Amino acid sequence: MIEYRREFKTADVEYVSNLCHDCGQCFDVCPYTPPNEFSVDIPKILSEIRTETYRKYATPRKMSLFSGSGIGFTLMLFGFSFLALFVIYLSSGNYLRIFMAISGPGSFYVILSNDILDVAGTLILFFVVLAWSISGKKFLKEVGGHSNIGLYDLIRAFFDSFGEKWFRGGGAGCNYPHRDERGSYKKMITHSLVLYGFLLDFLATTSAFVEQDFFHVLPPYPILSMPVISGITGGVMLIIGASLFLIFDYISSSEKDVSMTPIDRTFLVALLLTAFTGLLVLGFRNTSLMGTLLLIHLSMVSVLFISAPYGKFVHLVYRFISIGQYHLEKRLHGD
Ligand code: SF4
Repeated sequence: MIEYRREFKTADVEYVSNLCHDCGQCFDVCPYTPPNEFSVDIPKILSEIRTETYRKYATPRKMSLFSGSGIGFTLMLFGFSFLALFVIYLSSGNYLRIFMAISGPGSFYVILSNDILDVAGTLILFFVVLAWSISGKKFLKEVGGHSNIGLYDLIRAFFDSFGEKWFRGGGAGCNYPHRDERGSYKKMITHSLVLYGFLLDFLATTSAFVEQDFFHVLPPYPILSMPVISGITGGVMLIIGASLFLIFDYISSSEKDVSMTPIDRTFLVALLLTAFTGLLVLGFRNTSLMGTLLLIHLSMVSVLFISAPYGKFVHLVYRFISIGQYHLEKRLHGD
């Protein structure tokens, strides 16, 4: 990665920081790591620079104020989302239906209409894609200079990312959760649980959309259906993966070893709560708790996506671009 560059500007360090997967191997071999008086901790420095890129390239820039503001921003967004959904719920009359046990096709839409959910979901998705695209373009312009990433580089980046290639640490694994322990695949497995859990939940939403809009079958769907099977599997994987990351973080930071940035922690808690409330909706969908749980779950989903351009979620854009840029430079150097 770094050997393809001969001059170093701020953008080069930002590029390297987004390529860094925090494996901790460089900490292991550097003679000046703590407790040495120089106290050089490269993974920590790169992690801080990486977090700074989320602020620097945020779209709109003013919203970068919220990047890394952690749990306070998340709680504020949750309160705002819940209030907005509750007002929409109240505006359609029969205030007590949230406390009723409703079952059968379309029961979720008795709480919030399908049209409102469609419009809100489309607007949020459009906002996230637009903000990510603009931020990604700004980042690419800085780190890529005048060179263009081609389709080949993007395909390589795709397989690297979804194959979790760089979490393998070149075969040695990551020194995780402690910097001084032997390399293992603990971090790769935990990250895979989160990544593939999220993708399975995305598959659940997409397949529910197809069932409803193409085959005119309204939710809730039976247990043995694509939306429910992928939703449960993805939800459980997300909960295990996010919990493991938080437990590892607790163990290592309580021993003053490595610790995540608040932005990482907030993202994991938001993912965990989104998956957990989703499973609660599924488990209690035929009871009088369904309405309340549905509003809480949809508020958590809104928090996750509205904060996506300003929190840890955006790392997938910058990391993907950085890996694509790496493959471009590798190709240009004939390697
Ligand atoms: S060796 Fe690991 S922690 Fe160090 S810079 Fe490379 S990826 Fe990051």
